[in-house]
Amino acid sequence: MNIILIGIQGSGKGTQAKLLSDRFGWKHVTSGDLFRKNIEQRTKLGIVVKKYIDAGELVPDKYVLEMISDALNNAPDGFILDGFPRNIEQVLFLVDNFKIDYAILLDLSDEKAIERLMARRNCKICKKDYNVLFKKPKVPGICDECGGELVQRDDDNKDAISKRIEKFHNETNKVIDFFKQKDMLIQVNADLPLQAIHEDIASRLKGK
Ligand code: AMP
Repeated sequence: MNIILIGIQGSGKGTQAKLLSDRFGWKHVTSGDLFRKNIEQRTKLGIVVKKYIDAGELVPDKYVLEMISDALNNAPDGFILDGFPRNIEQVLFLVDNFKIDYAILLDLSDEKAIERLMARRNCKICKKDYNVLFKKPKVPGICDECGGELVQRDDDNKDAISKRIEKFHNETNKVIDFFKQKDMLIQVNADLPLQAIHEDIASRLKGK
């Protein structure tokens, strides 16, 4: 099956993609990660796209489409797309060139997303991630794995988070509408425990 996962920052999109990928064997394709890998490896593409990503702007479609096509053409057992498509041109390219079964929207209110993102912590040393609401360390402020100090990301403050959320809505509203009109949108409540969300997605895909 080929699916698209859409969700606001903090909706647990990465976790749900991994659970689906582990269970069904579909390849998890994340545009942001593919770009970051290219930047790290200093490929031609990486050098070109770095300036857009550093500025927080969308990378022009001519660089995105080829990279995504290559990744999807290497997913014979199905894929879960995360971070793509982000505009109508990308949607049209996708549905013209690949068979898409469903778009899954992890539905979470802005208030909940802000609350969750403000609760994120990472170990300063080993980078392991925690959340003081639902993935707490055994000892507050201390990493279970290495004893390192748990800190917040610089951009996980209320202002920066609100800006990221506004950007998400601006980018994806039209994408969501497209799949809704085509009757391809599955909307799930993302304000539930991670495993419950996963079971909801799996059962609704099975019922299709
Ligand atoms: P993300 O990790 O999904 O937030 O992506 C990080 C950055 O990669 C974004 O801010 C964009 O600059 C770029 N990017 C990721 N996916 C896309 C896309 N589908 N279209 C254009 N740019 C993208």
